[in-house]
Amino acid sequence: MMTSCEDHDFPCQNPDYSRFDKIAANELAKPIAANVLVNESKFCMMIPVSEDSVVGDLNHGLFLRTLRGQSGLYHLWVDYEACSDHGTHTMMCAYVGKGPPETRVASHIKTKWPQTSFLYTTFTPLENRLAKYYEQLFLDLYDFVLNKAENPGENLLYAVWDNERYTNGTHANEVSGLSKMQDFDDW
Ligand SMILES: [Zn+2]
Repeated sequence: MMTSCEDHDFPCQNPDYSRFDKIAANELAKPIAANVLVNESKFCMMIPVSEDSVVGDLNHGLFLRTLRGQSGLYHLWVDYEACSDHGTHTMMCAYVGKGPPETRVASHIKTKWPQTSFLYTTFTPLENRLAKYYEQLFLDLYDFVLNKAENPGENLLYAVWDNERYTNGTHANEVSGLSKMQDFDDW
């Protein structure tokens, strides 16, 4: 029997990042695999964008405050497909950027993110020089709808996350720790 990802033909098991990894391995002494950057990042959270999706004081500013003072590489994602057979969520990347994520992502939400779309953000802390390198490599190989690259890559960038990463993310405790809401029945 075909699984739902085979049936609908979307990347679910072992998405292919081989071109990215090959180039990084040739150019860097200690390359980070694309899989680590997009599927195993230290930070991975759904960020509330529209007013309707905000519960109490849990707005995007509060979610992003957990990244205060940090800098590195971030990706902005939208839902692509879910695979019921493997319990995974395939995500499509809409934007790659570098810098301090607290202010940059907040600015993207204001200026370019559609209010109607859910936003998922991944972030990896990196030295600016390396963040620049990985940002450029992603831009060279992939096409992101919200990046205006001069010579965009041809393929879309997908991530594949399990239910835990997709639903709860990596920083739910930190976010609720910053919230002033005492009564968690409100959630
Ligand atoms: Zn699957």
